[in-house]
Amino acid sequence: MKNKQILVTRSSMPTFDEYIDEIEEIWDSHWLTNMGIKHKTLEKELKEYLQVPNITLFTNGHLALECILKAMKLRGEVITTPFTFASTTHAIVRCGLTPVFCDINDTDYTMDVSKIEDLITDRTCAIVPVHVYGNVCDVYEIERIAKKYNLKVIYDAAHTFGEKIDGIGIGNFGDASMFSFHATKVFNTIEGGAVTYKDTCLNKILYDIKNFGITGPETVEYAGGNAKMNEFQAAMGICNLKHVDDEILKRKRVVDKYRKRLEGMDGIKLLSIKTNVQYNYAYFPVVFDGEKYDRDEIFEALKANNVIPRKYFYPLVNDFKCYKEKYSSKDTPVAKYISERVLTLPLYADLELKTVNEICDIILKTKHN
Ligand SMILES: *Cc1c(COP(=O)(O)O)cnc(C)c1O
Repeated sequence: MKNKQILVTRSSMPTFDEYIDEIEEIWDSHWLTNMGIKHKTLEKELKEYLQVPNITLFTNGHLALECILKAMKLRGEVITTPFTFASTTHAIVRCGLTPVFCDINDTDYTMDVSKIEDLITDRTCAIVPVHVYGNVCDVYEIERIAKKYNLKVIYDAAHTFGEKIDGIGIGNFGDASMFSFHATKVFNTIEGGAVTYKDTCLNKILYDIKNFGITGPETVEYAGGNAKMNEFQAAMGICNLKHVDDEILKRKRVVDKYRKRLEGMDGIKLLSIKTNVQYNYAYFPVVFDGEKYDRDEIFEALKANNVIPRKYFYPLVNDFKCYKEKYSSKDTPVAKYISERVLTLPLYADLELKTVNEICDIILKTKHN
């Protein structure tokens, strides 16, 4: 750690030769983008891997979320969480919808399902929950509420690539799920994303929206955008998909080590593990109580040792400069509490256990008596 900076994550990559082999064909075909052979191959492989009925690829996760919100022709209010990456809320707003923030629970930091019904009005059209850090939402209760009030459910599943609930691929819950394949995620296509969905009719409209609304050589039906995944992104995905199971196992080793060192420590809270979930070990968030351990103090102590964790998710979205005139984090007190105390520790497949030990030593040393 003395000479090398340890960042919160490090992108997974195939070997140089594997990638070169995969992109060689592109030099033969001169087909660089617009749903070429690599795009088709990756789409098929991901559909199988995620065990979903339908999938559409995009150039990134954010545009994938915007496109599915548009494809569903939603209007009005969307119930969502402020404890997430900027993208979730921005996508809702950029589609002309009004976000309504629901607080989170203090066990897994996903949406507090007991608070959803109170936020429903006659303008509510959808719920956009986030499987934050790879923790799955209470999908069964969300489904019950959505049915009762006739709402769409679109999950931000950016953190839950490859996870399963009760043996069922996470992309099968709700009407649709967005996955991000950004460089920093468990599975990456450099930049990239996908939407998985139940209703097969959405396939055509999603395809059209990501390609300027062009539906034929001389017909344009929608004011679509450009959100296509290119062939080099898809080739990276084909390579990384071959290794993702190994990478997840290696991540588990790191998480097990962290847990062994930090579990049960007074003033330190780790996430509870659900037995019916197959995890991907995307993130390792730790909540410090603010008395025995102080989050900002630990952040500085780690930084002084060349370790750069992240305060995911601080500040809360409802405190962002662009939203704070209309919203207040006081309305989501649990999210506020967690966001002021949480730190996401470095976690990636090749992080050495020795480094994990050193990180834990630094944390435990900052204890107040
Ligand atoms: C990464 C991320 C996104 C956006 O995905 P990109 O592929 O980077 O556009 C959306 N929501 C959450 C929760 C994320 O972590």
